[in-house]
Amino acid sequence: MDIKCPVCKKPRNTSMKVARHIFGTGDKPHKAWVKAQGVSYIDLLIQQATETGNRGFATLAALIEKAQPAA
Ligand SMILES: [Zn+2]
Repeated sequence: MDIKCPVCKKPRNTSMKVARHIFGTGDKPHKAWVKAQGVSYIDLLIQQATETGNRGFATLAALIEKAQPAA
């Protein structure tokens, strides 16, 4: 099952790839969505850059999975 970007609805095959897409896009609507989830975009980027194991991406990926419309 494809995972869709909750902002622009672009499908990817994993939530990690959607997380990567959100960081890679980094425009206003995508940043606003992250903020609306109660997390800081900048903090996630810092976490991703400074901690091992893709922690920033993984946090975002979990939020993306939660935001998927029920099939
Ligand atoms: Zn998107």
